[in-house]
Amino acid sequence: MNAFQNALTQLQQAGKIANTPPAVLDTLSKPERVIEVTVPVVMDDGQKKLFTGYRVQHSNVRGPYKGGLRYHSNVDQNEVKALALWMTMKCAVVGIPMGGGKGGITVNPKKLSSGELERLTRSFTRMMKDVFGPERDVPAPDVNTNPQIMAWIADEYRHIVGRAEPGVVTGKPISEGGSLGRDTATADGAYMVLEDVAKKLKLNPKKTSVIIQGFGNAGFHMATLAHKAGYRIIGLSDSTGGILDVRGKGMDPKNVMATKKDRGMIGSMYCVGSVCDGKNYKGVTNEKLLEAPCDILIPAALENQITKKNAGRIKARIILEVANGPTTPEADSKLLKRGVLVVPDILANAGGVTVSYFEWLQNKQGIRWTAKQVREKLKPIMRDSFAAVWKAKESYKTSMRTAAFIVALKRLEEALAKRG
Ligand code: NAD
Repeated sequence: MNAFQNALTQLQQAGKIANTPPAVLDTLSKPERVIEVTVPVVMDDGQKKLFTGYRVQHSNVRGPYKGGLRYHSNVDQNEVKALALWMTMKCAVVGIPMGGGKGGITVNPKKLSSGELERLTRSFTRMMKDVFGPERDVPAPDVNTNPQIMAWIADEYRHIVGRAEPGVVTGKPISEGGSLGRDTATADGAYMVLEDVAKKLKLNPKKTSVIIQGFGNAGFHMATLAHKAGYRIIGLSDSTGGILDVRGKGMDPKNVMATKKDRGMIGSMYCVGSVCDGKNYKGVTNEKLLEAPCDILIPAALENQITKKNAGRIKARIILEVANGPTTPEADSKLLKRGVLVVPDILANAGGVTVSYFEWLQNKQGIRWTAKQVREKLKPIMRDSFAAVWKAKESYKTSMRTAAFIVALKRLEEALAKRG
């Protein structure tokens, strides 16, 4: 099944339990608009190259479309449709007045020079000039995109419309109207959710081991917060592979990041040439990393990582989904039967879109909140959302994912009914 089919299965499962009217499920099963564009770019060698870009506007029933922009060679229409549907659900779970959208370009950005990346981004923005807009559709960073790329989008859009419209995109650098706290927001929100889970399950951080797959914006900050709180980070990975701390003592993510920057990848970190530090650390594939013994597994990379094939071999008792869509529906039901608590993406990583919404609000009002204000506004939203999902989980006697979908569906159903 592709990611969009997975998202539809999750929607239908929740709709059935919540008795959602078929017309509502029908509406939410189809994106409102799917845009596919061919993006021309003049490469450094003077040749023109064409890339395929997407924007899927899933639903604006609760507000302007909102969702990240991904640059990756696996980006396709189904992936973007799934990510857009999850954005609609996520914004509804945390109760912010935003709809769901997502975009991407099928490209390996690591193979582009900085100039090529900028021209690609500006060309894509020109193709999307009637699609993006502060009151219409607001992109943000996702896999392989960052504040610099958001700044290029804002700047290109400013040239097109002839005025500054910083609210056209979020996740911008602070100097360009970005919000303090946006860089760490996804991890901040996920950590707040982890604190609530820890309270419910009476976890002692010092006695709790954590493995994190993905060491980018979301994964690195999550690892840093968990490490600071005393959790033992015993496994980390990026696209090149992973490392396990065989001593079980835990690693400091800052040191791992410094070494990764030095060597270029996590995978080879504890092996230089043919000499490996097998006493303290072990290199592992991403597949083996997911199956290694730990208390909490945090996927923070891509979708479809935990499937029916490996779900039976996952040793963690809690999976906290910082990535979008890392667990397939077949894996979900296997994990539920085995008593593994899966804290779903549409709750766990919703801190990112919530602070993006804060950035958009600040841009609209021409004001700037302090990092403390951002955090103080994020916390009650994450707490209330967790509480609502937990309550739905208990009253419907279902998984946290289905409970989160139910919370979202009720809010979407209400908005759709009021619209007539
Ligand atoms: P990123 O580009 O900053 O980092 C991605 C990380 O995943 C990198 O370390 C990369 O090496 C690693 N990776 C890629 N393929 C991998 C693989 N096959 N196995 C293991 N690691 C792999 O991206 P990000 O912004 O941190 O996003 C990560 C996940 O979090 C995505 O699913 C994204 O949709 C989700 N997310 C991000 C945000 C945000 O604000 N950035 C918000 C919500 C959800």
